[in-house]
Amino acid sequence: MTEAHRPDSELLARFPDLHPAFDHPSALTEANRCLYCFDAPCTAACPTHIDVPRFIKKIAQGNLRGSALTILDANILGASCSRVCPVDVLCEGACVYHRYNKQPIEIGRLQRYAMDAFLRNRGALERKTSAARAGKVACIGAGPASLSCAAELRQQGFSVTVFERKALPGGLNTYGVAEYKLRSADSLREIEMIRALGVEFRFGEEISAARLAQLENDHDFIFLGVGLGTMHKLSIPGEEHPAVVNALDFIEGYKTNTVLLVGRRVVVIGAGNTAIDAARAARRLGAESVQILYRRDHQHMAAFSFEYEQAREEGVEFRWWTQPVSIHTYGTAISAIECVSTNPAAGNANLPIGGLDFAGQQGADPSARSSHSFRILCDMVIPAIGQSPLLAFLETCRGVKVEHGRVQIDRATGHTAHPKYFAGGDCVNGGREVVDAVADGKRSALALARFLETANV
Ligand code: SF4
Repeated sequence: MTEAHRPDSELLARFPDLHPAFDHPSALTEANRCLYCFDAPCTAACPTHIDVPRFIKKIAQGNLRGSALTILDANILGASCSRVCPVDVLCEGACVYHRYNKQPIEIGRLQRYAMDAFLRNRGALERKTSAARAGKVACIGAGPASLSCAAELRQQGFSVTVFERKALPGGLNTYGVAEYKLRSADSLREIEMIRALGVEFRFGEEISAARLAQLENDHDFIFLGVGLGTMHKLSIPGEEHPAVVNALDFIEGYKTNTVLLVGRRVVVIGAGNTAIDAARAARRLGAESVQILYRRDHQHMAAFSFEYEQAREEGVEFRWWTQPVSIHTYGTAISAIECVSTNPAAGNANLPIGGLDFAGQQGADPSARSSHSFRILCDMVIPAIGQSPLLAFLETCRGVKVEHGRVQIDRATGHTAHPKYFAGGDCVNGGREVVDAVADGKRSALALARFLETANV
């Protein structure tokens, strides 16, 4: 285990931007390549339906403020989405240039170019009405869904308070996205723009049943943007050792702490995008070897293929059909992780065995463990097998229907089974992209505004 003392300059050096910002001539050249398609498939592919040809045309015309306002009109977190969106499978993946076997327009980098200029110049959001309107909404959680909901309602003149249990707003944007994609400071800078609209924030608020009852009394509606809870447990012996750090805690740790521990030989368990973020971070923080263990093969992994390729290029190794069954420790250290093969081709189709499998479902009895186990030497283990729903909290929202850990809503409005509650983001979809949460928050805000208008007529 090595201890990394990390001044901010070192973090910048170890985590340079994945997609560096355009300079002015490059942005102009790229913007002028756009065909400004009438039926823009890039816009259709964006969950928030940003008018892509319009914002790009404004860049080409030198109107960066107009470009940013076009983006913000559809997506209030246009700055963070320009960095974290999987554009290859969304807007850029739909660009017509693919039909001609040409490079698609770099929409994400152009969006970042416009948004960075707007925020650098302390651009302010425009209110859609100058009048204060009757209606109070509480947003629980300060992640992308709640921020989007709060901003739209505030722009329409309603009162909004966001309640957050952590010390800072932004949810995973601030605490859980790899530093080479989005820095915490950039997430917070964007949220300042929303705060400046007059959205009120209360931090350090754990919402108990009693507090929830109070919020119901004090507000016309409640929006649940609570996201997901803690990461799934591996449920194998040795998991409670301090050198076993789940991926979200690991990412939050290196983003927010100035001293952190990184193994020399790190094993990451799981093959989603968070696992890849953690594995790449471990490499950049000095780990000599990083292996990702996954119980199936690469065709089944949840990570995007471009994330997988980038991780391989950075030296992360992948071991397919591999499931851990115990972690070997001695004193304050980890020595190895014991695994079994799950490869059906090798006659192990019924494995894995023991504890929870990677979908969080109960596996077979550990006593039935295969004799064909093998050990991988390591001194740090990072589980990354998905997050649990916040069931305990959701149970306190009596009348809100939850099925399979997901809040059930009307798809057109985000309205839950409880007339006073709306919901969106990860607590509804089980964990998708930031841009999906932003779209959910805005959808609910528009519906809430209609409800509030009707109530106040
Ligand atoms: Fe421009 Fe491509 Fe969108 Fe057409 S599809 S408007 S070329 S970014």
